[in-house]
Amino acid sequence: MTTDYKSTLFLPRTGFPMKAGLPKREPEWLERWERIGLWDRLRADAKGREKFILHDGPPYANGPIHIGTAMNKIVKDLINRTQQMSGRDAHYIPGWDCHGLPIEWQIEQDYRKKGKDKDAVPVDQFRRECRAYADHWIGVQMADFKRLAVLAAWDRPYLTMSFAAEAQIVREIGKFLMNGGLYKGAKPVMWSPVEKTALAEAEVEYKDITSPAIFVRFPVVKAGNPAIEGAAIVIWTTTPWTIPGNRAVAYGPDIEYAVYEVRAAGEGSSARPGERLVVAVDLAAAVAEKAGVGEWTEVARLRGAALAGTLTRHPLSGEHYRIEPPLYPADFVATDQGSGFVHIAPGHGADDFELGREHGLEVPETVGEDGCFFEHVALFAGQHVYKANPAVKAALSEAGTLLASENYVHSYPHSWRSKKPVIFRNTPQWFIGMETNGLRDKALAAIDATRWVPKSGYNRIRAMVENRPDWCVSRQRAWGVPIAVFVDKATGEPLRDQAVIDRVAAAVEAGGADVWFTADPADFLGPDRDPADYEQVQDILDVWFDSGSTHAFVLEGDDTQSWPADLYLEGSDQHRGWFHSSLLEACGTRGRAPYRTVLTHGFVMDGEGRKMSKSLGNTIAPQQIIKDSGADIIRLWVAMTDYTEDTRIGPEILKGQIDAYRRLRNTLRYMLGNLEDFDEAERLDAPALPELERWVLHRLTEFDSLLKHTVENFDFHVFYNALHGFCATDLSAFYFDVRKDSLYCDPRDATRRRAARTVLDHVFHCLTAWLAPVLAFTAEEAWLARFPSDDDSVHLRQFPELPSAWRDDALAERWQRIRAVRRVITGALEVERREKRIGSSLQATVRVFVGADDAALLDGVDLAELAITSDAALTTEAAPGDAFTLEDEPGVAVVATLAGGEKCARCWRVLDEVGAVAGSPDLCARCVDVVGPKRAAE
Ligand SMILES: [Zn+2]
Repeated sequence: MTTDYKSTLFLPRTGFPMKAGLPKREPEWLERWERIGLWDRLRADAKGREKFILHDGPPYANGPIHIGTAMNKIVKDLINRTQQMSGRDAHYIPGWDCHGLPIEWQIEQDYRKKGKDKDAVPVDQFRRECRAYADHWIGVQMADFKRLAVLAAWDRPYLTMSFAAEAQIVREIGKFLMNGGLYKGAKPVMWSPVEKTALAEAEVEYKDITSPAIFVRFPVVKAGNPAIEGAAIVIWTTTPWTIPGNRAVAYGPDIEYAVYEVRAAGEGSSARPGERLVVAVDLAAAVAEKAGVGEWTEVARLRGAALAGTLTRHPLSGEHYRIEPPLYPADFVATDQGSGFVHIAPGHGADDFELGREHGLEVPETVGEDGCFFEHVALFAGQHVYKANPAVKAALSEAGTLLASENYVHSYPHSWRSKKPVIFRNTPQWFIGMETNGLRDKALAAIDATRWVPKSGYNRIRAMVENRPDWCVSRQRAWGVPIAVFVDKATGEPLRDQAVIDRVAAAVEAGGADVWFTADPADFLGPDRDPADYEQVQDILDVWFDSGSTHAFVLEGDDTQSWPADLYLEGSDQHRGWFHSSLLEACGTRGRAPYRTVLTHGFVMDGEGRKMSKSLGNTIAPQQIIKDSGADIIRLWVAMTDYTEDTRIGPEILKGQIDAYRRLRNTLRYMLGNLEDFDEAERLDAPALPELERWVLHRLTEFDSLLKHTVENFDFHVFYNALHGFCATDLSAFYFDVRKDSLYCDPRDATRRRAARTVLDHVFHCLTAWLAPVLAFTAEEAWLARFPSDDDSVHLRQFPELPSAWRDDALAERWQRIRAVRRVITGALEVERREKRIGSSLQATVRVFVGADDAALLDGVDLAELAITSDAALTTEAAPGDAFTLEDEPGVAVVATLAGGEKCARCWRVLDEVGAVAGSPDLCARCVDVVGPKRAAE
């Protein structure tokens, strides 16, 4: 009969379950944090500490959050939590971007569905509906962010549509008005005929389209060089509808051109034998082929510079096209496609406009806000530019100037909202001048003074700021902050009067920006001015000006914040968006960037690296992951991913994350189970610990250093992947395994057991703190499972300060070798198990063959304990030929055999000594010590 000794073992005991049940349990933790006032207590704890201000880039309030938004907010949360736990005061105010076209567009769509006419609705009512729409989505998004355990001042978020924010935006544009930076000018801007507004670069997306490209003759009427007398200059354009707006032709001064005389034309060609055409030499063969020229001969060759002074005839005939477009040199002319000549329509392109301005050309107004030609445009009046290309081609053909046409595929800007192509259109708009008050230079200097993470961001934004045109800040829309400016009807000059700006700002602060559209202008202009003398601007501001001003109404004048922010963090597309507009706004009003560091993350792709889209059906919704697996799983994925690059998520990747989570959870659970009733009196000082325990402490100091580096550099994936490896490999598969016997079977107060428990306690304190920023829910659960409390929280802790004496590099190096030897032993045991010669490793005994160096190094090391065998012998004898070896661990060989002796019924070690103590026939000496001979005899 065998005795059951199970009750005499110290088996792990904990209420911390193996199964996480996160979807159900997480909301309970959220309630608890709400109840104990976690956010306020964090603020109170951090009072007086050095501030760390991450200024939130506001998401747009028009839909549920997606996985990218979730990642963005979680990265921010990791940063804030690790900063807070590193001793700083990370007071994070979340924000929303509320104005703008997408919301307005949505309200208009709803009107259309209901058959309502937007123009029949008063502007303030329309604006109220936009506000309610934004409000709704702010509520939805906030609930999701909270569910993801993002810590923030959720009770006082900033909204760009709050009256205070709108008032400050009015004051900010007022600063540009007063310092001369804001001006009204007529320039070609990107214009959406569908939404009837100017668009910023950040509001367009590029798509490939097929355009009806044409080659057009511009007959020379005054030759700047005798060689082109009687010839025609051939231009190429992908937008035939811009020909009515043509006022010049550009050439490259260094490009080589030639005059070709047509000898024969192919069938259907519009080339005429005998005519002379001027094109770039490099493109001549391609032009001849596209124009169906059978044969032509070069009759003259000349550099572009020789074409100066040439005048041509406009290719459209008729009353309104009696224009003689001149030839001008330009450095943007290239010979990679087309003919080597660029037709210049100053109202329809930025280069065209600049070249025209250089030479004093008029900027014709040809296209209205709806994309239709004005009534004064001969031949095409009233036609929409999207549909006018065939008519323009027909008119050119009729005039004998159309040489050839082709379908041409190229990338072209589209409104990201309506998905329709935008046009370049000349309209009067409000601009912030890049050269006024040295704005461009200030912005470039600010870029140099900012830390960009990753570094590539520096070059990106610098190139953009170096080359960007003036900032077009006006939009012909309703839902936004008005450009609160009066224009003097007599002089056309904007009114620059700080008192007027102050009155507008005060009224907006009290009643919202609607007041600009509803109040009597006299209220703003004051008693000394006659409203009849002024025109009130009805445009609203580019929403990028709103978000570019958030630093002004969030960071300034709030004790919890500071200006500039320590960190701005958004997706890498914000170099042209928020980072950019904030930079220009702050440099123009305060002379420096509103941030010290800018961090960017990539975008979230599906598991195969494809963009997520509804049509592909590969979207992964954070709400679904929360429902299926829990928010801690998403948080862990974010922490273990290098987010500076584009990241991936899919079912397989999530499965991997869930496995990783389980390993971390089991690590916590093992510690909790073995730390039951751990008592301070049990603790041993570090120097009194066995080497194995001191090695674990040393590992903790390594993670401590790595964590500090990670907090400084935001590269969480490095730390958390390493920490996961530590839990899986160093702890679970090694340290815990080795110490299981001691923890379960040694006498309660055996030194070895006390040492292990001391170290488990240290590891538990470190791991729960280190995991708290990531596994916000699970770390809390583990902490409170060990230290139950009504109002405590793991999140109120700081990262532990580890004694520097724990660091022991020499010991670490020695243990690296010891573990290598252990790997060979484990390999040998694996073979024995596979061959069914042993069951558990405790049934085996090993002989380990090593060289003299290893023998010295392993002197005093209990290999049996480390390898969890019943016995181990170390020898420098030559190993037998059939000994087990590992190729990558040379110098070690192992022979494993079945241990002699009997199996101890309590600890299962197989030892000769079992039964040696009288009265305890089935126990080893250690186990007799624990249970006592009396008990054993029962
Ligand atoms: Zn035993």
